[in-house]
Amino acid sequence: MRKNLLGQKKSHLVADWNALERVFIRPENEATRITLVKYMEQILFGLHEFLNKNVGITEEISLKELSKNFTDTRIGKHPEKKLADVITDIVKEIAPHAVNVASPYFVGHMTSAIPFFMVHLKTIVSALNQNVVKLETSKVVSVIEKQVIAKIHRLIYNMNELFYQTHVQNTTTSLGCFTEGGTSANLTALWVARNAAFPPKNGFKGIEIEGLSAAFRAYNIERAVVLVSVRAHKSLKKSGGILGIGNQNVIAVDVDDRSRIDISLLKQEIRQLKKDGKTKIIAIVGIAGSTETGSIDPLREMAEICKKNDTCFHVDAAWGGPTLMSEKYRHLLNGIELADSVTIDGHKQFYMPMSCGMLYFKDPSIMDLMAYHANYINRRGSVDLGIKTFSGSREANSLILDSALKIMGTRGYALLIEHGIEVAADFAEEIESRENFELVTKPVLNILTYRVFPKQLKKEHEAGDDDQKKAINARLNEINRIVQQVQREAGNSFVSRTAFKMKKNPNEQMVVLRCVMMNPMTNMSILKDILDEQEKIYLDWDAGKLKNKGRSRTY
Ligand SMILES: *Cc1c(COP(=O)(O)O)cnc(C)c1O
Repeated sequence: MRKNLLGQKKSHLVADWNALERVFIRPENEATRITLVKYMEQILFGLHEFLNKNVGITEEISLKELSKNFTDTRIGKHPEKKLADVITDIVKEIAPHAVNVASPYFVGHMTSAIPFFMVHLKTIVSALNQNVVKLETSKVVSVIEKQVIAKIHRLIYNMNELFYQTHVQNTTTSLGCFTEGGTSANLTALWVARNAAFPPKNGFKGIEIEGLSAAFRAYNIERAVVLVSVRAHKSLKKSGGILGIGNQNVIAVDVDDRSRIDISLLKQEIRQLKKDGKTKIIAIVGIAGSTETGSIDPLREMAEICKKNDTCFHVDAAWGGPTLMSEKYRHLLNGIELADSVTIDGHKQFYMPMSCGMLYFKDPSIMDLMAYHANYINRRGSVDLGIKTFSGSREANSLILDSALKIMGTRGYALLIEHGIEVAADFAEEIESRENFELVTKPVLNILTYRVFPKQLKKEHEAGDDDQKKAINARLNEINRIVQQVQREAGNSFVSRTAFKMKKNPNEQMVVLRCVMMNPMTNMSILKDILDEQEKIYLDWDAGKLKNKGRSRTY
């Protein structure tokens, strides 16, 4: 048999009709079937073996070294490799240099292990290759999408049975949509809010048609703003740019000591904005599970403020939304049912493969504000899902989510979510009990931040004046940067790093370590190992025993 592994002599593969027929036509004989099954085995188990190895991001080979192997920019005229060899190369040569996000020691980001069955479901979606942009390329899958959207809508809003019977398969209304991720879900939410803030009126055809300056003229204003907290995800600022209101008009209000939007500052900001009568607040965004700290804004109070000010209330629950499946903790999201729209990510706490976002609306008709009817694609009154989404062609993620919900049940997901929340609480306690650490943000959900804070410096900090405190903070920032970097490069575990503005002095920053507990295999013994390793790195560095300290980042 001809082999074509890296470094071996190339076989003479040719692109001809014979070869094309082989890749397009279904396998007909037993031999072909066996080969294809063998490839699937290679994918499932070859990669699984890699993902089971206990490594985070190793720096065994730096990205710079690695990138030297990827500089050829020519596309071969003739085939270079057969499928089996391509798969072998990826499993053997590429995967080991990817990031093992499935490791229980990988607790730094919102990307983690996924249930094994997700790979099967993703494969089905590829094999069926439905395009949900329109009914003619998806049929039943569009209907399933409407159903699963109604299921999640029910989880959020819990309207009555008649409401769901009326809308679940209604071709003129929509309870929400699938998007690429949380970013495009947030963008879509603010797009709808913007259009709702500048609807058509005598002679003015609406902002979607006439644009921003015509809208400002028609409504006699000079500026449109969105209010968020300083913990808001970057996607909201980006949306400000894309929607033309300007990203500086996505205004970040400071938070209280629990990382939640400060309600009195929010009210103050609104009063300020309303003074000259030239500013329109198009939306206020509450966060249910902030990316950095997992904090949840006071949603009920925010909803009231929105109502009073006649503005849209959007909740970004990209991370925290699935907490609604836990009977024990769903109360943390109280008030979410008052939101006009809610973002939830599928690839986060629904444990779906990359990538899947969703957006839900309380008002089943509000998406009419962004409906587009292209004659050749979507006709009015059809159920074509592409009419009311930002994206055009897209995959049938609803099949994955719907199947996952059947396999897991809300109780299955609740177990995962409760595990994360409870491990985070125990971890916080462990951090507080260690003299060389400081817990910075206490977890509400399954995210927390902390920093290495050596006991000697704690004493000095306590006794110091403002200048000394500032100097100690700068030193702590340095320590925590080094600890995070050295730990990451050692490749046994991974926590991430972020920085908060200091309350007293916005020019000063506090560097913190950030952990996200979503892998069900992450337990206290692993988390203690991670703290032990960090403490050792600090002590070695402090004793001058660390080589490579502070060397430039390699990626
Ligand atoms: C992850 C996240 C987003 C962005 O979602 P993507 O899927 O990465 O585009 C937005 N908001 C919050 C709170 C998030 O955690």
